[in-house]
Amino acid sequence: MPSLIEEAFHELYPDKELKYSISLKYSRKFSPYNANVKRYGNNLIFSLSRDWKKISKEIQIGLIQELMIKILKENDKNKKTINMELYNAFLKNVHIAIPKTKTDEILDASFNKVNEAYFNGMLDKPNLQWGNDSTSKLGSYEYGSDTITISAIFRNETSLLDYVMHHEMLHKKFKFESKNGRHVHHSPEFRKMEAKFENRDMMEKETARLAKKHRHGFGLLNF
Ligand SMILES: [Zn+2]
Repeated sequence: MPSLIEEAFHELYPDKELKYSISLKYSRKFSPYNANVKRYGNNLIFSLSRDWKKISKEIQIGLIQELMIKILKENDKNKKTINMELYNAFLKNVHIAIPKTKTDEILDASFNKVNEAYFNGMLDKPNLQWGNDSTSKLGSYEYGSDTITISAIFRNETSLLDYVMHHEMLHKKFKFESKNGRHVHHSPEFRKMEAKFENRDMMEKETARLAKKHRHGFGLLNF
């Protein structure tokens, strides 16, 4: 029986020969539904979080194909298989099944306020957590674990926190579009809704200013 990897490869490249030695492992180290692939010379190692083990073979093949396209960098921007479509649909819906275990009083209040003001209270609550005090990664939304992470520099900046929260909530709402083999996260639709945030231009400036201030502080402490 061909392995998942062989099946994934042959569906993606029916005319090519698999010239890598390949291994697949399920790891406890990842957050839910995360995965990566690494190349060491002629070896490709696919690592999938353990949650993938219980997911259908077809969807796993789609995930492996997405990783293959990334690492093999063949001229295949427009490659799209049914399995990849299944995988993308899965990733857009997996948040429903993810347990919500992480929250925080400040983040919770911000989420609720922004949800009422801009989403008619309709967005389901994801996991909410503080990140480290990063000035480059101000916030993120991870599809696989349904988690919004906000840089700790916003702890005492209620209105800027709401602004960054709003951005991450839009990621949860719109997810991503697949275009030419790439995931588009900030679609025109996303940008249009983002621009509706009250005093948006000022918020954008103030956010940049806060990040800069923290960068300076960091520099002074360390040099
Ligand atoms: Zn974004």
